[in-house]
Amino acid sequence: MKIAICPGSFDPVTYGHLNIIERSAALVDHLIVAVFRNPNKHSMFTMEERLDMLKETTKHLPNVEVDAFDGLLNEYAEARNCHLLIRGLRAFSDFEYEFQRALLLKKVNPTLETAFFMTEGKYSFLSSTGVRELACFGGNVSKLVPPYVQQVIEAKFKSDKSEA
Ligand code: ADP
Repeated sequence: MKIAICPGSFDPVTYGHLNIIERSAALVDHLIVAVFRNPNKHSMFTMEERLDMLKETTKHLPNVEVDAFDGLLNEYAEARNCHLLIRGLRAFSDFEYEFQRALLLKKVNPTLETAFFMTEGKYSFLSSTGVRELACFGGNVSKLVPPYVQQVIEAKFKSDKSEA
């Protein structure tokens, strides 16, 4: 069985991520979308919210599993018996980081390959950071994220405002 892992923060999942997830799910038997619990990075959405948004927006893909992981990605991949990581590439600015990261992982585990999917042109500007920034100022994110994610974002900002 061909298994791949698509790792990331997904804070929150965007149409850009979903495009990579759909395209890779079509090429493997089982795709694990793995949400990284990063203790060094403050996330806007909790792990539970990120998992929920991913599960809801990938439910049309029967071979996609959404999971959380912390610690080392290579150890997680080993535990899941997986030798293929999939990452998306948007611009040159992504390339340097991804290149170093892929080589480092390969050094640690030579059987672990990283494959890259070029973003679709229409998503090349799209990032979770951009969505979070827009959302903070009440901007319209409907063209950037699926309706379910938009609802979660709006609910979060409403409850944050009422708490303030
Ligand atoms: P990380 O914090 O690990 O970079 P992200 O959630 O930001 O995680 O991204 C996960 C993966 O999705 C990365 O490989 C990233 O390059 C890719 N990605 C994010 N946005 C897009 C997009 N608009 N088009 C293609 N790939 C994307």
